[in-house]
Amino acid sequence: MKSMVTFERVSKVYGEKTNQTAALKDVSFSVNTGEFVAIIGPSGSGKSTFLSMAGLLLSPTSGNVFIENEIITNLKEKDRANLRLQKIGFVFQASNLIPYLTVMDQLLLIGKLSRSRKDTKQKADRLLEKLGLSHRKHHFPSQLSGGEKQRVAIARAWMNDPQIILADEPTASLDSKRGREVVEMLASEIKRKEKAGIIVTHDERVLDLCDRVLMIKDGELQIG
Ligand code: ADP
Repeated sequence: MKSMVTFERVSKVYGEKTNQTAALKDVSFSVNTGEFVAIIGPSGSGKSTFLSMAGLLLSPTSGNVFIENEIITNLKEKDRANLRLQKIGFVFQASNLIPYLTVMDQLLLIGKLSRSRKDTKQKADRLLEKLGLSHRKHHFPSQLSGGEKQRVAIARAWMNDPQIILADEPTASLDSKRGREVVEMLASEIKRKEKAGIIVTHDERVLDLCDRVLMIKDGELQIG
């Protein structure tokens, strides 16, 4: 078991002098391989800021973020983008699929972006089968149900076999059965392949699938 994402006294302040918001205050945190952590908290408490920071989409105002013991706070944007592509899989609330690409092409694009090997197509086929989407391969996002879109988003996040899975309200657009299925898929992949996972959620019905539940309030991390 090793630490995949570590925050060391991380703070984030948005805005300029007279109009500042402290979105995260002195947050220390770590998620290990094989561990699935839920972050809960009221709206505006800093959850998205936290997840964006763990996903290297945002830099801290102070403190340090480590990915597998490598300090990434001072990396150039290009290096951060590479690290993101290699190590991090995102599953967003609104699945964020590209409207004009078929299900298969959404997955192949990720393979191409990461300049990965020739087995991209087979990998995409396997993933779509595993997630029960083989019959939707040539469909566009507008032809899919909410649950199917979210499963495509998961398949896409799995394409590079990332060590870190970040999910932002992945059940928000789903009914409770489908929502639970989505989080079960995340949890089982995290356990089976020893990945590290963080989920931001309002959905209390899925918290039992997580190893730890942490609460953010006013930018401060507390034990939930
Ligand atoms: P949550 O995800 O829990 O709703 P956020 O991380 O989105 O919380 O926001 C935390 C705080 O930071 C809120 O007060 C929000 O208004 C503020 N905030 C978030 N993003 C920005 C931004 N880009 N510029 C200024 N303030 C922001």
